[in-house]
Amino acid sequence: MTAELTSLAATLLRLTAWLAILAALFVPLERLFALHRQKVLRKQIGVDVCYYFLNGLLPGLMLGAPMTAVVIVAHKVMPGAIAAIAALPIWARAAAAMIVGETAYYWAHRLSHQIPLLWRFHAIHHSAEAIDYMVSVRAHPVDFFWSRIVMLTPLFALGLVNPVRMSDGLIPAFVLIVGGFWGFFVHANVRWRLGPFEWLLATPGFHHWHHSQGLQRNCNYASIFPWLDRIFGTHHLPGTWPAEYGVLEPTAPTLYGQLLQPFREPEAARTVAEPAAPKA
Ligand SMILES: [Zn+2]
Ligand SMILES: [Zn+2]
Repeated sequence: MTAELTSLAATLLRLTAWLAILAALFVPLERLFALHRQKVLRKQIGVDVCYYFLNGLLPGLMLGAPMTAVVIVAHKVMPGAIAAIAALPIWARAAAAMIVGETAYYWAHRLSHQIPLLWRFHAIHHSAEAIDYMVSVRAHPVDFFWSRIVMLTPLFALGLVNPVRMSDGLIPAFVLIVGGFWGFFVHANVRWRLGPFEWLLATPGFHHWHHSQGLQRNCNYASIFPWLDRIFGTHHLPGTWPAEYGVLEPTAPTLYGQLLQPFREPEAARTVAEPAAPKA
């Protein structure tokens, strides 16, 4: 019991340190290069900080058992393929981990918009009416768990990440740190555009369109690689920025209310249709 408490305290300390680093980086950037004039301590910031800690603790605990099962089954079904992948140089495995993980994330995210049951949970992320770096962690734990389990399953099944401890090895650290940091960046309230590199890497301009109010949000599902949206026909990146963010459905103002909302919402309010793919 003491060991568990020590481990929990260490995790909370680590999350607090990361939050301080992120704030030290993004708060000045969002003041210097602000896209919209908004306060640092904006509406719902307290709720989003709670999501940061909740999603830093809960899904990690819940992912251990299913990922171990995936590894055991994969080693029984395709031991040859796993051995061949393990023999690849580290740069090839890192590149494969990024592409496989991102493609799986793209589909997990797209399904969150297309399947009404998943949208009920994902709508919490889209309910933010002001976008900044902290909106990256504004996610119902069920939504967070869904996207992570879909993203991590092929990585564990193919042996691209270490099944025993996520902290072991360079590849999981690389994938998680790059992916996590990019998530904060694409939500940031900064007016930066990356010119020709916007073909290669997601930007705030790319992801802010994903948060535009109404059904226009059914585009730009990728988290790092926008060319996945080009391949799958959902890319939308005009030279302008969205006028308004958020969802039309009402959202509970408190963390408690938001955590319960997907279980309460009436069937009619959560139907979401995917329009024809928007044109870039
Ligand atoms: Zn979304
Ligand atoms: Zn987002």
